[in-house]
Amino acid sequence: MKQEYMYKYPKTLLNKGTGFLAGYSHSLNPYTGCSFGCSYCYVRQMPVSIFRNAQWGTWVDIKQDAAAIVRKELRRAKAKGPVTIFMSSSTDPYQPIEHKEQITRSLLEVMVSDPPDFLFVQTRSPLVRRDIDLLLRLGDKVRVSMTVETDREEIRKHFSPEAPPIPARLKTLQLLAEAGVPVQATIAPMLPSSEAFPQLLHAAVNRVCLDDYFMGDGSGGKRTRNLGIQALYKQLGLEEWYHPSAYRIVYDRLRQVFSEDQIYVSQKGFEP
Ligand code: SF4
Repeated sequence: MKQEYMYKYPKTLLNKGTGFLAGYSHSLNPYTGCSFGCSYCYVRQMPVSIFRNAQWGTWVDIKQDAAAIVRKELRRAKAKGPVTIFMSSSTDPYQPIEHKEQITRSLLEVMVSDPPDFLFVQTRSPLVRRDIDLLLRLGDKVRVSMTVETDREEIRKHFSPEAPPIPARLKTLQLLAEAGVPVQATIAPMLPSSEAFPQLLHAAVNRVCLDDYFMGDGSGGKRTRNLGIQALYKQLGLEEWYHPSAYRIVYDRLRQVFSEDQIYVSQKGFEP
């Protein structure tokens, strides 16, 4: 899909952690907008997207001087108390433009030189492997959470055709884990998957988070309903997966290979 990129000069980058992220002192978005443009992305319903006059997934604002701003903000925030950061809540920090712009990498460099108490990196992009050197330097103060909504590529393509292929995400999780970076596979939003899914995850990680629209979209499923996501399940003849109890299917399958304390459900899996 054609993308429109714009350079922006924000005054601040660290935002207060609220709502679903209330367990964090801050959230951090290196970009505004997201090229992956997932169909179910709840940001589609937020003012940043609604007032843009352009389709979500077709535009990205690149935050200039991000590292210098965050360096100052981080120092100030640390002087006030513990700093726990969620990166990112409304963009993917490793979307394609990050190859060239390296805003996320520059933010990690700041955090390596002045570490927060904890950093949670949420992505679905294999590009995160480029930054293994920096992630390792954060030790146990970081966790990389890789979204893996399903193991079925045809399902992934139906819901998020522009996002990276699932095998590349699993491979990346494995690489990060082998290198010693704390990782989590995040099945969110949970899409229809096969019985073999838990085994694939088990080969890569020992921590899994499972979340769905009803628990995890911040509105009890209302935002997702407004997006008309149910129709995408209908097209596939898989409507039974669009249900508040459907996550039990995957949970029970996960329990066959993961222990109870390795499986986190919804918000618990995103906490610092
Ligand atoms: S990667 Fe995340 S932020 Fe980007 S479109 Fe998909 S759900 Fe939204």
